[in-house]
Formats: sequence, structure tokens, C-alpha cells
Amino acid sequence: MTAGVRLVILGRQGAGKGTQCTRLSRHYVVPHISTGEMLRAAVKEGTELGRKAAEIMNDGGLVPDDVMIGIVDERLDHDDTTRRGYILDGFPRTVPQAKALAEITDARRLDLVIDLDVPKAIVLQRLASRRVCADCGANYSVDKPPRYDWVCDDCGGEVEQREDDTPAAIEKRLADYERETAPLIDWYRDMGLLDVVDGLASANEVSLRLFAVIDLRRGS
Ligand code: AMP
Repeated sequence: MTAGVRLVILGRQGAGKGTQCTRLSRHYVVPHISTGEMLRAAVKEGTELGRKAAEIMNDGGLVPDDVMIGIVDERLDHDDTTRRGYILDGFPRTVPQAKALAEITDARRLDLVIDLDVPKAIVLQRLASRRVCADCGANYSVDKPPRYDWVCDDCGGEVEQREDDTPAAIEKRLADYERETAPLIDWYRDMGLLDVVDGLASANEVSLRLFAVIDLRRGS
């Protein structure tokens, strides 16, 4: 079996992180840890975290750092991640989160951080037409719908527009990304951990680009 990997994926909302992380997770046999998915699951279940996060998420805001750090710290302690690694999608999103992650992973350092780069004008179009499965998170779009009447091809769940894919929330999330998350690109570059991958190609082509940079870093 291929070696695992400890990976962070950065990139604007709509860059294709969700789709690519699902593929990377299958390829390297490590869990895909999406903080957005974890929060959406908590909202659906109506947990205390979900109730607190729902309003912030719908407005396109960021859930407080201490809450997010606690969630990720706990998740990275599970056996599946300590054995083979993980792919973090949506975390870290701020400098305090990145600093906390460095501490959490001190004993088992990150292999690399990838910036999946897609220009803002393109992600704006993608987000406006994006549709997702409410159950498994699979991604579709108005141009590439599921085969049958907005029923997920993978799990049979209902495919719908995300509540935070409204024009106002999209604008806010992208502004937050430039202000809070984009500085992490230089931060990780200075640490010698960053690779930039051009995300403007077919999903298959982007996956091949990702496999290539990851395998090069791991020397495999
Ligand atoms: P995503 O699916 O990654 O776009 O995340 C959806 C929403 O969840 C974001 O717009 C935030 O409200 C919240 N969220 C997810 N990850 C984080 C994080 N690391 N820090 C703060 N908020 C987050």
C-alpha cells in the first residue's frame, strides 16, 4: 500500500478543495478532515456546537479560533490520523489556527501544505453554480448535475445549494480568505512547506498535479 501523508490544503472557496481532497484521501488512504463538513454535520445534528456555528456560517463568518482548534486537536488524536496521516481541508484559516496546528503536530510534523490556486473571478462563477449533497458533501453544479433529479449519484442524498452560497455570504467568505487565510501562504512558504498547484484544469488533471507534488515531497 502507498505511504500515508500529513497534508494541509489551502485555497479559495470554490477552488475544488473538497473534490480533490476526496480523491487524495482515497489515493493515500488517509482521512479527509474537512472542518466545514464537521460543522455542517453538527448543525444537522443540532448539537450545541451546531447551534452556535449555524448563524455564523450562514452569514459567511468564521467560527472562533478556540472552538476550531479544540475540534481539530481532538480529531487529530484519533487512531486513523496518528497511524497514516490526514488531509486537512478548511483548517487552518487564520494565523492563530496555524500556530496551534504547529503545536498539535509537533511530534508528527506536516509533510507539506498545498495552495490550490484558482483566481477569484473563476471561483465566483463556480460558487454561484455549486450544488452539494446534503448527506455526503459530494460536489455538483448547475452545469454538471447528478444523473437523476438532484439525487446524489454516490449516496442517494438530496443535492442542494449550500446555505452560505448566497452572493452576500460568498463575498464575505472570499474577503475573509484574502485577509485571514492568504497570509498563511507566505507563512508556510517561509517554513519551506508550501507548494502551489494550479487548480485551473479538469478535476482529473488537477489530481495528477497534486499526486506529483505530494510524491515528490515524500520522495516516493
Ligand atoms: P467550508 O466548507 O470550508 O467552506 O466551511 C464552511 C464554513 O464553516 C466557513 O464559512 C466558516 O463559517 C466555518 N469554518 C470552517 N472551517 C473553519 C475554520 N477553520 N475556522 C473558522 N471557521 C471555519
